[in-house]
Amino acid sequence: MPKKRQKELFQPAKGTFDILPEDEWYWDKIYKAASKAADVYGFGKIETPIFENTNLFLRSVGETTDIAEKQMYSFKTRGGDALTLRPEGTAPISRAFISNGLFELPQPLKLWYWGPFFRHESPQHLRYREFHQFGFEIFGDRDSVYDALIIQIFANILKELGWADFVVEINSVGCQTCRPDFRRLLLNYYRSRQRLLCKDCKRRFVSNPLRLLDCKEEKCAELKSRAPQIIDHLCSACRPHFKSTLEFLDDLEIPYMLNPHLVRGLDYYSKTVFEFVSTSKEDKMAIASGGRYDNLVELLGGKSAPAVGGAAGIERLIASLKEIGVQPEPKENPKVFVVQLGSLAKRKSLSLIEDLRKAEITFAESLGRDSIKAQLKIADRLKAQLALIIGQKESLDNTIIIREMDSGNQETVTRAKIIDRLKKRLS
Ligand SMILES: [Zn+2]
Ligand SMILES: [Zn+2]
Repeated sequence: MPKKRQKELFQPAKGTFDILPEDEWYWDKIYKAASKAADVYGFGKIETPIFENTNLFLRSVGETTDIAEKQMYSFKTRGGDALTLRPEGTAPISRAFISNGLFELPQPLKLWYWGPFFRHESPQHLRYREFHQFGFEIFGDRDSVYDALIIQIFANILKELGWADFVVEINSVGCQTCRPDFRRLLLNYYRSRQRLLCKDCKRRFVSNPLRLLDCKEEKCAELKSRAPQIIDHLCSACRPHFKSTLEFLDDLEIPYMLNPHLVRGLDYYSKTVFEFVSTSKEDKMAIASGGRYDNLVELLGGKSAPAVGGAAGIERLIASLKEIGVQPEPKENPKVFVVQLGSLAKRKSLSLIEDLRKAEITFAESLGRDSIKAQLKIADRLKAQLALIIGQKESLDNTIIIREMDSGNQETVTRAKIIDRLKKRLS
Protein backbone atom coordinates (compact mmCIF):
# COMPACT_ATOMS: atom_id res chain seq x y z
CA MET A 1 0.00 0.00 0.00
CA PRO A 2 1.46 3.46 -0.87
CA LYS A 3 2.45 5.54 2.14
CA LYS A 4 -0.26 8.16 1.62
CA ARG A 5 -2.94 5.48 1.42
CA GLN A 6 -1.62 3.87 4.58
CA LYS A 7 -1.79 7.20 6.41
CA GLU A 8 -5.41 7.72 5.37
CA LEU A 9 -6.30 4.74 7.53
CA PHE A 10 -5.50 6.48 10.77
CA GLN A 11 -6.16 10.13 9.94
CA PRO A 12 -9.60 11.72 10.00
CA ALA A 13 -10.82 12.99 6.62
CA LYS A 14 -9.67 16.54 5.83
CA GLY A 15 -11.65 19.17 7.72
CA THR A 16 -13.13 16.73 10.23
CA PHE A 17 -12.17 16.00 13.82
CA ASP A 18 -12.98 13.75 16.75
CA ILE A 19 -14.75 15.02 19.85
CA LEU A 20 -12.74 13.52 22.70
CA PRO A 21 -13.95 12.85 26.26
CA GLU A 22 -11.87 15.79 27.55
CA ASP A 23 -13.96 18.20 25.43
CA GLU A 24 -17.29 16.57 26.04
CA TRP A 25 -17.90 18.84 29.04
CA TYR A 26 -18.05 21.89 26.72
CA TRP A 27 -20.46 20.20 24.31
CA ASP A 28 -22.65 19.17 27.18
CA LYS A 29 -22.60 22.62 28.75
CA ILE A 30 -23.64 24.31 25.48
CA TYR A 31 -26.31 21.71 24.81
CA LYS A 32 -27.78 22.28 28.26
CA ALA A 33 -27.80 26.06 27.81
CA ALA A 34 -29.49 25.78 24.40
CA SER A 35 -32.09 23.24 25.47
CA LYS A 36 -32.87 25.17 28.63
CA ALA A 37 -33.54 28.28 26.56
CA ALA A 38 -35.64 26.19 24.18
CA ASP A 39 -37.78 24.92 27.06
CA VAL A 40 -38.28 28.35 28.59
CA TYR A 41 -39.22 30.04 25.31
CA GLY A 42 -41.39 27.13 24.16
CA PHE A 43 -39.35 25.73 21.26
CA GLY A 44 -39.92 22.11 20.24
CA LYS A 45 -36.88 20.15 19.11
CA ILE A 46 -36.77 18.95 15.53
CA GLU A 47 -34.26 16.60 13.90
CA THR A 48 -34.16 16.48 10.12
CA PRO A 49 -32.16 13.99 7.99
CA ILE A 50 -28.44 14.50 7.39
CA PHE A 51 -29.08 14.56 3.62
CA GLU A 52 -31.85 16.06 1.56
CA ASN A 53 -32.71 16.34 -2.13
CA THR A 54 -30.13 18.62 -3.76
CA ASN A 55 -32.86 20.79 -5.27
CA LEU A 56 -34.00 21.86 -1.81
CA PHE A 57 -30.70 23.67 -1.24
CA LEU A 58 -30.34 24.98 -4.79
CA ARG A 59 -33.77 26.56 -4.49
CA SER A 60 -33.48 27.90 -0.94
CA VAL A 61 -29.84 28.81 -0.37
CA GLY A 62 -29.66 30.09 -3.94
CA GLU A 63 -27.91 28.59 -6.96
CA THR A 64 -25.43 31.45 -7.30
CA THR A 65 -24.26 31.53 -3.68
CA ASP A 66 -20.84 30.27 -2.60
CA ILE A 67 -22.50 27.43 -0.73
CA ALA A 68 -24.32 26.08 -3.78
CA GLU A 69 -21.51 26.81 -6.23
CA LYS A 70 -18.52 25.54 -4.29
CA GLN A 71 -19.31 24.03 -0.92
CA MET A 72 -22.04 21.43 -1.11
CA TYR A 73 -21.38 17.73 -0.69
CA SER A 74 -23.67 16.56 -3.46
CA PHE A 75 -23.83 13.07 -4.84
CA LYS A 76 -25.88 10.75 -7.02
CA THR A 77 -27.15 7.57 -5.38
CA ARG A 78 -27.17 4.15 -7.03
CA GLY A 79 -30.88 4.73 -7.59
CA GLY A 80 -30.14 7.99 -9.42
CA ASP A 81 -31.35 10.44 -6.73
CA ALA A 82 -29.43 13.73 -6.45
CA LEU A 83 -28.76 14.26 -2.75
CA THR A 84 -26.74 16.73 -0.66
CA LEU A 85 -25.38 16.57 2.88
CA ARG A 86 -27.13 19.44 4.62
CA PRO A 87 -24.97 22.60 4.52
CA GLU A 88 -27.29 24.51 6.90
CA GLY A 89 -30.39 24.02 9.00
CA THR A 90 -33.05 26.51 7.95
CA ALA A 91 -33.92 25.03 4.55
CA PRO A 92 -34.46 21.47 5.87
CA ILE A 93 -36.63 22.75 8.70
CA SER A 94 -38.69 24.88 6.32
CA ARG A 95 -39.07 21.76 4.18
CA ALA A 96 -40.15 19.79 7.27
CA PHE A 97 -42.61 22.56 8.17
CA ILE A 98 -44.37 21.86 4.87
CA SER A 99 -43.89 18.04 4.69
CA ASN A 100 -45.33 17.48 8.16
CA GLY A 101 -48.16 19.98 7.90
CA LEU A 102 -46.76 21.97 10.82
CA PHE A 103 -48.51 25.07 9.44
CA GLU A 104 -51.73 23.54 10.84
CA LEU A 105 -50.44 23.97 14.40
CA PRO A 106 -50.98 27.20 16.37
CA GLN A 107 -48.58 29.88 15.11
CA PRO A 108 -46.04 31.23 15.71
CA LEU A 109 -44.48 27.78 15.72
CA LYS A 110 -41.09 27.62 17.41
CA LEU A 111 -38.58 24.91 16.52
CA TRP A 112 -34.97 24.33 17.52
CA TYR A 113 -32.27 21.95 16.35
CA TRP A 114 -28.77 20.73 17.10
CA GLY A 115 -26.48 18.68 14.86
CA PRO A 116 -23.74 18.33 12.24
CA PHE A 117 -23.63 20.23 8.93
CA PHE A 118 -21.31 19.87 5.95
CA ARG A 119 -19.55 22.31 3.66
CA HIS A 120 -16.59 21.65 1.41
CA GLU A 121 -14.53 24.70 2.38
CA SER A 122 -10.78 25.04 2.57
CA PRO A 123 -10.06 24.01 6.15
CA GLN A 124 -8.63 26.76 8.32
CA HIS A 125 -8.71 27.78 11.95
CA LEU A 126 -12.16 26.86 13.31
CA ARG A 127 -13.58 26.21 9.87
CA TYR A 128 -14.40 22.56 9.40
CA ARG A 129 -16.00 20.54 6.65
CA GLU A 130 -18.15 18.81 9.21
CA PHE A 131 -19.24 21.41 11.74
CA HIS A 132 -21.97 21.63 14.35
CA GLN A 133 -24.67 24.17 14.98
CA PHE A 134 -27.73 24.70 17.07
CA GLY A 135 -30.47 26.99 15.89
CA PHE A 136 -33.86 28.46 16.68
CA GLU A 137 -36.58 29.17 14.13
CA ILE A 138 -39.94 30.94 14.56
CA PHE A 139 -42.55 30.35 11.84
CA GLY A 140 -45.78 32.15 11.12
CA ASP A 141 -45.27 35.76 12.20
CA ARG A 142 -43.81 38.77 10.41
CA ASP A 143 -43.72 41.07 13.45
CA SER A 144 -40.29 42.55 14.17
CA VAL A 145 -40.71 41.67 17.84
CA TYR A 146 -39.75 38.11 16.86
CA ASP A 147 -36.57 39.31 15.14
CA ALA A 148 -35.61 40.88 18.45
CA LEU A 149 -36.69 37.79 20.39
CA ILE A 150 -34.44 35.49 18.32
CA ILE A 151 -31.51 37.83 18.92
CA GLN A 152 -32.33 37.97 22.62
CA ILE A 153 -32.36 34.18 22.91
CA PHE A 154 -28.84 33.94 21.48
CA ALA A 155 -27.68 36.84 23.64
CA ASN A 156 -29.01 35.07 26.73
CA ILE A 157 -27.39 31.74 25.85
CA LEU A 158 -24.02 33.40 25.17
CA LYS A 159 -24.21 35.33 28.43
CA GLU A 160 -25.19 32.24 30.38
CA LEU A 161 -22.13 30.49 28.95
CA GLY A 162 -19.98 33.31 30.27
CA TRP A 163 -19.38 35.12 26.99
CA ALA A 164 -20.29 38.79 27.37
CA ASP A 165 -17.93 40.55 24.92
CA PHE A 166 -20.17 40.54 21.89
CA VAL A 167 -21.93 42.98 19.68
CA VAL A 168 -24.74 42.19 17.24
CA GLU A 169 -24.00 43.46 13.76
CA ILE A 170 -27.31 44.08 12.07
CA ASN A 171 -28.68 45.13 8.72
CA SER A 172 -31.81 44.86 6.61
CA VAL A 173 -31.51 43.27 3.17
CA GLY A 174 -34.95 44.50 2.14
CA CYS A 175 -37.68 42.48 0.51
CA GLN A 176 -38.94 41.50 -2.93
CA THR A 177 -40.32 45.03 -3.33
CA CYS A 178 -37.27 47.10 -2.52
CA ARG A 179 -34.40 44.76 -3.31
CA PRO A 180 -34.75 44.82 -7.13
CA ASP A 181 -34.42 48.63 -7.10
CA PHE A 182 -31.40 48.44 -4.84
CA ARG A 183 -29.90 45.75 -7.05
CA ARG A 184 -30.14 48.16 -9.99
CA LEU A 185 -28.46 50.92 -7.99
CA LEU A 186 -25.69 48.56 -7.01
CA LEU A 187 -25.18 47.43 -10.61
CA ASN A 188 -24.97 51.06 -11.72
CA TYR A 189 -22.34 51.76 -9.09
CA TYR A 190 -20.23 48.74 -9.94
CA ARG A 191 -20.63 48.85 -13.73
CA SER A 192 -17.89 51.44 -14.26
CA ARG A 193 -15.72 49.77 -11.61
CA GLN A 194 -16.04 46.19 -12.84
CA ARG A 195 -12.40 45.85 -13.88
CA LEU A 196 -11.34 46.66 -10.29
CA LEU A 197 -13.20 43.67 -8.86
CA CYS A 198 -11.69 40.32 -7.90
CA LYS A 199 -12.35 37.27 -10.06
CA ASP A 200 -15.21 35.98 -7.91
CA CYS A 201 -16.85 39.42 -7.81
CA LYS A 202 -16.68 39.77 -11.60
CA ARG A 203 -18.83 36.65 -11.65
CA ARG A 204 -21.07 37.91 -8.83
CA PHE A 205 -21.63 41.15 -10.73
CA VAL A 206 -23.50 39.10 -13.31
CA SER A 207 -25.05 36.38 -11.18
CA ASN A 208 -25.73 37.83 -7.71
CA PRO A 209 -24.71 41.49 -7.26
CA LEU A 210 -25.83 41.69 -3.62
CA ARG A 211 -23.04 39.26 -2.81
CA LEU A 212 -20.52 41.87 -3.97
CA LEU A 213 -20.98 43.40 -0.51
CA ASP A 214 -19.87 40.19 1.14
CA CYS A 215 -16.42 39.97 -0.47
CA LYS A 216 -13.44 39.95 1.88
CA GLU A 217 -10.83 40.81 -0.80
CA GLU A 218 -9.09 44.06 -0.01
CA LYS A 219 -9.75 45.79 -3.31
CA CYS A 220 -13.42 44.82 -3.22
CA ALA A 221 -13.76 45.93 0.40
CA GLU A 222 -12.56 49.38 -0.55
CA LEU A 223 -15.06 49.62 -3.39
CA LYS A 224 -17.94 48.56 -1.21
CA SER A 225 -17.18 51.21 1.40
CA ARG A 226 -18.47 53.77 -1.11
CA ALA A 227 -21.24 51.61 -2.58
CA PRO A 228 -24.90 52.52 -2.05
CA GLN A 229 -26.34 51.14 1.16
CA ILE A 230 -29.58 49.21 1.21
CA ILE A 231 -30.84 50.74 4.45
CA ASP A 232 -31.09 54.06 2.58
CA HIS A 233 -33.34 52.41 0.02
CA LEU A 234 -35.76 50.28 2.05
CA CYS A 235 -39.45 50.28 1.08
CA SER A 236 -42.30 51.55 3.24
CA ALA A 237 -42.75 48.09 4.77
CA CYS A 238 -39.08 47.28 5.41
CA ARG A 239 -38.05 50.62 6.88
CA PRO A 240 -40.40 50.67 9.90
CA HIS A 241 -39.81 46.94 10.40
CA PHE A 242 -36.08 47.52 10.72
CA LYS A 243 -36.54 50.60 12.87
CA SER A 244 -38.76 48.78 15.35
CA THR A 245 -36.39 45.79 15.48
CA LEU A 246 -33.65 48.19 16.59
CA GLU A 247 -35.99 49.80 19.13
CA PHE A 248 -36.75 46.41 20.65
CA LEU A 249 -33.02 45.74 20.90
CA ASP A 250 -32.61 49.11 22.64
CA ASP A 251 -35.30 48.11 25.12
CA LEU A 252 -33.57 44.79 25.73
CA GLU A 253 -30.22 46.58 26.12
CA ILE A 254 -28.58 44.28 23.60
CA PRO A 255 -25.47 45.97 22.14
CA TYR A 256 -25.75 46.26 18.35
CA MET A 257 -23.99 47.99 15.51
CA LEU A 258 -25.38 48.78 12.06
CA ASN A 259 -23.37 47.06 9.37
CA PRO A 260 -24.76 48.27 6.03
CA HIS A 261 -22.70 45.67 4.16
CA LEU A 262 -23.94 42.64 6.03
CA VAL A 263 -25.77 40.49 3.48
CA ARG A 264 -25.12 36.87 4.63
CA GLY A 265 -24.26 34.10 2.21
CA LEU A 266 -27.80 32.84 1.68
CA ASP A 267 -30.39 34.09 -0.77
CA TYR A 268 -33.47 33.31 1.31
CA TYR A 269 -33.03 36.18 3.76
CA SER A 270 -35.33 39.19 3.67
CA LYS A 271 -35.42 42.20 5.99
CA THR A 272 -33.35 41.61 9.16
CA VAL A 273 -29.95 39.89 9.03
CA PHE A 274 -27.61 39.72 12.02
CA GLU A 275 -24.30 38.31 13.25
CA PHE A 276 -22.94 38.04 16.79
CA VAL A 277 -19.27 38.99 16.72
CA SER A 278 -16.67 39.22 19.44
CA THR A 279 -15.61 42.72 20.49
CA SER A 280 -12.43 41.51 22.15
CA LYS A 281 -10.80 39.98 19.09
CA GLU A 282 -9.48 41.49 15.89
CA ASP A 283 -10.66 38.75 13.57
CA LYS A 284 -14.36 39.32 13.76
CA MET A 285 -15.56 35.77 13.59
CA ALA A 286 -19.32 35.31 13.72
CA ILE A 287 -20.31 33.04 16.59
CA ALA A 288 -24.02 33.13 15.84
CA SER A 289 -25.99 34.57 12.95
CA GLY A 290 -29.34 34.56 11.27
CA GLY A 291 -32.16 36.63 9.94
CA ARG A 292 -35.69 36.79 8.62
CA TYR A 293 -36.85 34.66 5.69
CA ASP A 294 -40.44 35.60 4.97
CA ASN A 295 -40.63 33.94 1.54
CA LEU A 296 -38.72 30.69 1.96
CA VAL A 297 -41.65 28.42 2.88
CA GLU A 298 -43.66 29.77 -0.06
CA LEU A 299 -40.64 29.42 -2.36
CA LEU A 300 -40.49 25.73 -1.45
CA GLY A 301 -44.14 25.27 -2.34
CA GLY A 302 -45.86 25.82 1.01
CA LYS A 303 -48.50 28.33 2.02
CA SER A 304 -46.97 31.70 2.86
CA ALA A 305 -45.35 31.54 6.32
CA PRO A 306 -43.07 34.41 7.31
CA ALA A 307 -40.24 33.29 9.59
CA VAL A 308 -37.11 34.36 11.43
CA GLY A 309 -34.28 32.38 12.97
CA GLY A 310 -30.63 32.01 13.72
CA ALA A 311 -27.89 29.50 14.41
CA ALA A 312 -24.71 29.33 16.49
CA GLY A 313 -21.49 27.53 15.56
CA ILE A 314 -20.58 25.15 18.36
CA GLU A 315 -16.87 24.72 17.54
CA ARG A 316 -16.37 28.49 17.51
CA LEU A 317 -18.34 28.87 20.70
CA ILE A 318 -16.17 26.27 22.45
CA ALA A 319 -13.01 28.00 21.21
CA SER A 320 -14.31 31.32 22.60
CA LEU A 321 -15.16 29.73 25.92
CA LYS A 322 -11.67 28.27 26.20
CA GLU A 323 -10.19 31.62 25.29
CA ILE A 324 -12.02 33.43 28.06
CA GLY A 325 -10.92 30.75 30.49
CA VAL A 326 -14.11 28.77 31.01
CA GLN A 327 -12.76 25.49 32.43
CA PRO A 328 -14.36 22.08 32.77
CA GLU A 329 -15.28 21.10 36.29
CA PRO A 330 -12.78 18.42 37.35
CA LYS A 331 -14.13 14.97 36.63
CA GLU A 332 -15.06 13.09 39.76
CA ASN A 333 -12.74 10.19 40.61
CA PRO A 334 -14.28 6.75 40.99
CA LYS A 335 -15.24 6.20 44.63
CA VAL A 336 -14.18 2.56 44.73
CA PHE A 337 -11.92 0.24 42.75
CA VAL A 338 -12.74 -3.46 42.51
CA VAL A 339 -9.69 -5.71 42.86
CA GLN A 340 -9.95 -9.46 42.32
CA LEU A 341 -7.72 -12.51 42.33
CA GLY A 342 -8.68 -15.88 40.81
CA SER A 343 -11.54 -17.02 38.61
CA LEU A 344 -14.12 -17.35 41.39
CA ALA A 345 -13.28 -13.84 42.59
CA LYS A 346 -13.69 -12.51 39.04
CA ARG A 347 -17.22 -13.94 38.91
CA LYS A 348 -18.04 -12.45 42.31
CA SER A 349 -16.70 -9.10 41.11
CA LEU A 350 -19.32 -8.93 38.38
CA SER A 351 -22.17 -9.31 40.87
CA LEU A 352 -20.49 -6.78 43.18
CA ILE A 353 -20.27 -4.29 40.29
CA GLU A 354 -23.95 -4.82 39.63
CA ASP A 355 -24.75 -3.93 43.25
CA LEU A 356 -22.50 -0.85 43.05
CA ARG A 357 -24.41 0.28 39.96
CA LYS A 358 -27.75 -0.11 41.73
CA ALA A 359 -26.43 1.86 44.71
CA GLU A 360 -25.02 4.51 42.29
CA ILE A 361 -21.52 4.20 43.73
CA THR A 362 -19.01 5.11 40.99
CA PHE A 363 -16.38 2.46 40.47
CA ALA A 364 -13.49 1.40 38.29
CA GLU A 365 -11.83 -1.96 37.78
CA SER A 366 -9.27 -3.78 35.72
CA LEU A 367 -10.89 -7.18 35.66
CA GLY A 368 -8.58 -8.50 32.97
CA ARG A 369 -5.56 -8.25 35.25
CA ASP A 370 -4.53 -10.98 37.66
CA SER A 371 -1.94 -9.33 39.89
CA ILE A 372 -3.31 -7.55 42.97
CA LYS A 373 -0.32 -5.21 42.94
CA ALA A 374 -0.98 -4.13 39.35
CA GLN A 375 -4.66 -3.54 40.11
CA LEU A 376 -3.92 -1.46 43.20
CA LYS A 377 -1.52 0.61 41.14
CA ILE A 378 -4.32 1.55 38.74
CA ALA A 379 -6.64 2.27 41.68
CA ASP A 380 -3.99 4.67 42.91
CA ARG A 381 -3.63 6.37 39.54
CA LEU A 382 -7.39 6.83 39.28
CA LYS A 383 -7.40 8.26 42.83
CA ALA A 384 -10.11 5.88 44.02
CA GLN A 385 -10.95 6.40 47.67
CA LEU A 386 -11.42 2.74 48.56
CA ALA A 387 -10.32 -0.55 47.04
CA LEU A 388 -12.63 -3.54 47.36
CA ILE A 389 -10.45 -6.64 47.35
CA ILE A 390 -11.80 -10.12 46.68
CA GLY A 391 -8.92 -12.58 46.97
CA GLN A 392 -9.11 -16.37 46.87
CA LYS A 393 -9.87 -16.62 50.60
CA GLU A 394 -12.51 -13.89 50.48
CA SER A 395 -14.30 -15.48 47.55
CA LEU A 396 -14.63 -18.72 49.51
CA ASP A 397 -15.64 -16.93 52.75
CA ASN A 398 -18.09 -14.60 51.01
CA THR A 399 -16.29 -11.55 52.37
CA ILE A 400 -14.66 -8.47 50.89
CA ILE A 401 -11.70 -6.44 52.14
CA ILE A 402 -12.23 -2.68 52.14
CA ARG A 403 -8.89 -0.94 51.85
CA GLU A 404 -8.51 2.78 52.34
CA MET A 405 -6.20 3.81 49.54
CA ASP A 406 -4.55 6.75 51.36
CA SER A 407 -3.72 5.04 54.65
CA GLY A 408 -3.68 1.39 53.62
CA ASN A 409 -6.02 0.57 56.55
CA GLN A 410 -8.19 -2.46 55.87
CA GLU A 411 -11.34 -4.02 57.24
CA THR A 412 -13.13 -7.20 56.22
CA VAL A 413 -16.90 -7.06 55.66
CA THR A 414 -19.33 -9.81 54.70
CA ARG A 415 -20.61 -9.70 51.13
CA ALA A 416 -24.18 -9.19 52.32
CA LYS A 417 -23.30 -6.04 54.26
CA ILE A 418 -20.84 -4.47 51.81
CA ILE A 419 -23.14 -1.90 50.18
CA ASP A 420 -24.46 -0.62 53.53
CA ARG A 421 -20.91 -0.36 54.84
CA LEU A 422 -19.73 1.51 51.73
CA LYS A 423 -22.60 3.94 51.93
CA LYS A 424 -21.62 4.74 55.51
CA ARG A 425 -17.92 5.09 54.72
CA LEU A 426 -18.45 7.23 51.66
CA SER A 427 -21.04 9.58 53.12
ZN1 LIG B 1 -38.91 46.12 1.31
ZN1 LIG C 1 -14.36 40.46 -4.53
